[in-house]
Amino acid sequence: MVKHPLGKTGLLVSPLGMGTLTMGFSQMNLSVESGAAVILRALKKGINFLDTAEYYDTYRYLRPALDQARRDPDLAAPVICSKSLAKDYAGMTRAVEDCLSALDLDQADLFLLHEVRGMPDFQTRAGAWQALRDLKASGKIKAIGISTHHVDAARAMAEESACDAVFALCNRAGLGIRTCDGTVQDPHSPFLQDRPARREEMESAIRLLAAQGIGVFTMKAFGGGNLITDYRACLDYACSIPGNCSVMVGLGTADEVDTAADYLSGRLDPAYVPDTSGKRMKVDQSDCEGCGTCVARCTSHAIHWNDHGLAEIDPSKCVHCGYCAPVCPVRAIIFQ
Ligand code: SF4
Ligand code: SF4
Repeated sequence: MVKHPLGKTGLLVSPLGMGTLTMGFSQMNLSVESGAAVILRALKKGINFLDTAEYYDTYRYLRPALDQARRDPDLAAPVICSKSLAKDYAGMTRAVEDCLSALDLDQADLFLLHEVRGMPDFQTRAGAWQALRDLKASGKIKAIGISTHHVDAARAMAEESACDAVFALCNRAGLGIRTCDGTVQDPHSPFLQDRPARREEMESAIRLLAAQGIGVFTMKAFGGGNLITDYRACLDYACSIPGNCSVMVGLGTADEVDTAADYLSGRLDPAYVPDTSGKRMKVDQSDCEGCGTCVARCTSHAIHWNDHGLAEIDPSKCVHCGYCAPVCPVRAIIFQ
């Protein structure tokens, strides 16, 4: 399978990557054996770009798969992206060391400041960013960057000389794209100067980053599952964004891996529509911050607070209108 250079990092990645959040505790909660088998299937098919994070708790699936990949020349050489929500130097240092230890690595391929909520957030996490810079200088990480849903943060990385890669949210409907540019305050947003942004704004930021040699890859091509019935159109759009090196998609089953591989090889039936009959809108409890925006938005009164103060959807009242997902500032509402 063709591999794309991820900017100037020296890393070569498949045009579709594999997100491992799907298989973890907050979603499918696969056994270690099942999760590792799905990862190995992806590597066998040539999908070598694997996304994980400190809080996904998916290193346990990656470790046995990586051990196997080191022994099997038929498997694609994996490129691992991990990230941490750490806010300070010590937290980020610990997160990187935990990752290296959990995956039995001397050097991480790519480690990111996870979910940067605009430049104000990046600035408050300066210590964590400095830790990534120091760890790269010491050889513990090959490349560093940020993941973000925010246009302003993505765009600003073009001026950040230490930044090698940006993992940005972009999809054909523009679901979940935000920015902190101070023009219009979204009354539903808990974040200062945070408003919804259009996909064209993120596309423009991606072009700018690519022109600087920064490796860009994107997430949420299916808008958290809300656009999944347009599977091909979503991937066609995301893969064709100028400057985008790879599209990370959540893969939790062998069938999902095979479908992604068929898409890449051009063998996917043009009329393919995923079977979503067993799927429903739900709140990812590991992402929800309990802000209440979705509760106010749902005119079907299908969302309530659970005992942990987080939002939860009652499937018997939900009409799958999808109105709640775009208003969630952290993309915690998914269709799965
Ligand atoms: S699901 Fe999103 S919008 Fe709803 S309470 Fe949680 S963070 Fe807020
Ligand atoms: S999809 Fe519609 S009905 Fe279902 S929880 Fe969201 S807003 Fe409410």
